Amino acid sequence: MQPMSQDAGGVKKQSNKSKAFRLSKKDLLTVTEHAPDVICRFDPSFRLLYVNPAIEVATGIPPQAFKNKTTRELGMPEEHSAHWEKHISQVVATGQDTTMEFPFLTPARGVRYFHAVLVPEFADDGAVETVLTISRDITEKKELDKQSKDSVSVVSHELRTPITSLKIAAQFLQKKFAEKGDETTAEQLEKMNRQIDKMKNIIADLMDTTQIEHGTIKLQKDKFDFNLLVQEIVDEIKVTTGRKIRIKGAAASTVYADAFRIGQVITNLLSNAARYSPEGKEIHVLISSDATSVTCRVRDFGPGISSEQQQKIFERFYRANEMEHLTHIGLGLGLYISSEIIKLHNGKIWVESRAGKGSTFSFMLPLG
Ligand code: ADP
Repeated sequence: MQPMSQDAGGVKKQSNKSKAFRLSKKDLLTVTEHAPDVICRFDPSFRLLYVNPAIEVATGIPPQAFKNKTTRELGMPEEHSAHWEKHISQVVATGQDTTMEFPFLTPARGVRYFHAVLVPEFADDGAVETVLTISRDITEKKELDKQSKDSVSVVSHELRTPITSLKIAAQFLQKKFAEKGDETTAEQLEKMNRQIDKMKNIIADLMDTTQIEHGTIKLQKDKFDFNLLVQEIVDEIKVTTGRKIRIKGAAASTVYADAFRIGQVITNLLSNAARYSPEGKEIHVLISSDATSVTCRVRDFGPGISSEQQQKIFERFYRANEMEHLTHIGLGLGLYISSEIIKLHNGKIWVESRAGKGSTFSFMLPLG
């Protein structure tokens, strides 16, 4: 009796399970058949096992026509097919998700841009059996991004001239009032000057960012003394921030790089160290080199950065702490620009930090 009832229970469980499975399969089908995104399933030889109806909107071809065909057999452009095959092969080989972007000439709406997620589906033996892909039309988002980048570029460019005139006028007035002995007015004008400098820095950051995004930043490389550059910047930051900054170590040889841009990176790391660590705390700059590269580390003893924030800190417009908006004007562009400058030099930039224990920002630069 015992085995019978166990079996009966097993069968019942099994049938409940398959009913649940059938239901979930049906539910899934309802979702995919009505989804606005294009959903496809490819086998490892790039044949389409499933496509949802949204594909007809994108391609003008009815879903039935895709069954067991490759995109090449469907007459899609060589470049498009090769792009897809490369990514599908990658998912099959690695068993990892991936993403891709691609333009597609749709019959009704001209060229549209898509973002696709490719997900592996595994057989019982652990091999990738099929690849599920979900492609979303991101044309509108791309256009909005471009418009906002273009307007940032135009606005920052237009602001440069009036701000330069303001700066000249404020400096002139400050000098005149100081000469007349009107110290109070001269002090106010000095404050105004400092604010104008901040605005100039923000505009410069915005202009650098648009240049980076348009790929138009040009490096002016030359041989220079890395140690001297660090020393000059440290001296300047010491004066502007009143901080004690100690330099340890030195580079053994000169560097072939864009001294202005590398100076910008060092200035940014040192200004951040001064800005985000408590007054009175020292800042250390450690320089070392080997046969092929020079490494510069800027260490502070401030609040540190959590590991979650460390992942995002080099992203555009990222600011780790909302409270800073109240105390410091900044757009969260400094580290983004620094990392792009170092990348352009084929170097590396990174942060090591623990909350409460300070931060060390480092960059490595190839010697030539
Ligand atoms: P900004 O300083 O203008 O906000 P950055 O790109 O230079 O932009 O820095 C991004 C964020 O990283 C800052 O808003 C700050 O939260 C954090 N950060 C940068 N440097 C440090 C540091 N030395 N210590 C703690 N937080 C830092």
